[in-house]
Amino acid sequence: MSFSSIESSAAFKDAKLRPPPSLAIVVPCYNEEDALPFLLQRLEQLDSELMKSGMILAPLELLLIDDGSTDKTWTLIEGANTSLQVKGVRLSRNFGHQHALYAGLIQADADVVVSMDADLQDDPSAIVEMLAAYARGADVVYGVRGCRATDTWFKRWSAQKYYGLLSSMGVDLIPDHADFRLMSRKALSALSEFGETNLFLRGLVRQVGFASETVTYDRPKRTAGESKYPLHKMIALALEGITSFSIRPLRMITMLGFLIAGNAFIFAAYSILAWMLGKTIPGWTSTVVPIYMLGGLHLVALGVIGEYVGKIYQETKGRPRFIIDKTVTSGAVTAPISIAHAKASMTSR
Ligand code: UDP
Ligand code: MG
Repeated sequence: MSFSSIESSAAFKDAKLRPPPSLAIVVPCYNEEDALPFLLQRLEQLDSELMKSGMILAPLELLLIDDGSTDKTWTLIEGANTSLQVKGVRLSRNFGHQHALYAGLIQADADVVVSMDADLQDDPSAIVEMLAAYARGADVVYGVRGCRATDTWFKRWSAQKYYGLLSSMGVDLIPDHADFRLMSRKALSALSEFGETNLFLRGLVRQVGFASETVTYDRPKRTAGESKYPLHKMIALALEGITSFSIRPLRMITMLGFLIAGNAFIFAAYSILAWMLGKTIPGWTSTVVPIYMLGGLHLVALGVIGEYVGKIYQETKGRPRFIIDKTVTSGAVTAPISIAHAKASMTSR
């Protein structure tokens, strides 16, 4: 939707509008040297459009969180030649997308904060509609992918299975919403109250609550560079989503245990009957198969329990969720080593 159509739409005019907010955009960057120049250029354009239309109070602040990049990302952030007000934060190592994003959300102090990827797959023009939704009273606005035509069939298929699996496990998620969202100051301060180390932000934000809206956008291909989410990181994120938000797998093990034990009783009764009738055939299969089957089930059960125990182990340590190496504001290095107040995980995703 263009600015003029937004401004002239009945919903926009009739709504009880909030005054224009200050806006910060948080972008986690991991080896994004190829994508950054396009990002800056696109956001400069967005900034001037938003200022012209009066949708934001002041020029937008861009927070770039360098998640321990090994390429020239940090050099580019430090020397960013842009009209935007840029704050760069370099983490001490690669903490993973969710942690880098969280670091940015916590650092931002604008009225509303939008989080997005560095590769322009999250269409910046959707931010106009997000701001309109905020003006109407939403404290959280979820960016939802309208079409996945640019994704590979595997990404489409796995995403569909992923949302299906998570919802069957009772995890409250917005389908096809990743981490492109707007949050108001109120929602962000509520988010900062959550003390957990294992971060799965798209699930946590649902737990925060408040008035929310969704905005649909089409997801183009990456502007430049490669995806930083290989299969193993996707699987780790999917597991994080389940084990951080659902204890259903533990319950399923109990149910499975009852089912197998019940069957074993029936089988035992049948065996006694067969023995009394003199029909017993000494069987190898009936001995060996249950041993393997139960052995396997035990291992699965232990593994699932282990996932949760491991999680408790990490949470009790209360490590910082991210550690800042240095920060820079529109070109000048401002702060040396500081440790973020939040608590945190060992896992790097
Ligand atoms: N990212 C990060 N740390 C990581 C991996 C990714 O900060 O360890 C950032 C990355 O730079 C990008 C965003 O997270 O801005 C999403 O990653 P990507 O676009 O590679 O994921 P995809 O869109 O392929 O799922
Ligand atoms: Mg991407």
